[in-house]
Amino acid sequence: MTKKSTSFSKHISIKEAYSGSNTAKKHKIDNKPPRYAMENMKILAEELFEPLREEIGHPIRVSSFFRGKELNAALKGAENSQHLTGHAIDLISSGKMTNADIFYLIKNNYDYDKLIWEMGDDKNPDWVHVSYVKGANRKLVYQAYRQPGKGFSTYKWFDLDNKDEQEKEV
Ligand SMILES: [Zn+2]
Repeated sequence: MTKKSTSFSKHISIKEAYSGSNTAKKHKIDNKPPRYAMENMKILAEELFEPLREEIGHPIRVSSFFRGKELNAALKGAENSQHLTGHAIDLISSGKMTNADIFYLIKNNYDYDKLIWEMGDDKNPDWVHVSYVKGANRKLVYQAYRQPGKGFSTYKWFDLDNKDEQEKEV
């Protein structure tokens, strides 16, 4: 009667959490998290993702969660990426809230370590990266963008909300 569970947490599947990467499949990479990373992922899911998901009330696609060293290298991720330790997750809205809405909801109402407005433009990011380090969250906020001719992301302190305020004052 026991059925193998396909869910990692209430609204995150195991495929989304670590086993579903096409890049991992292509390179035959086993992306199963070690125990410490699995524990970090469980904490992030329970204390950040699931409360956020409840509040939003519609699906959020998890485009990346755990990345082992090999998968991270294949994806050209940053060497010190918090995805390597299961501390970070990438989110894309699949409902009426935009990625920007989700970004601001986290920024203004949740505890997190690093929150990144990933690519896109100044109105909406292509995805939202957020990390959670229990007991050590720093609430750092960045915007990532690509400089022409560079294959990797550049980060700057997030200041789009300040920009809005400046415009209002004018
Ligand atoms: Zn990320």
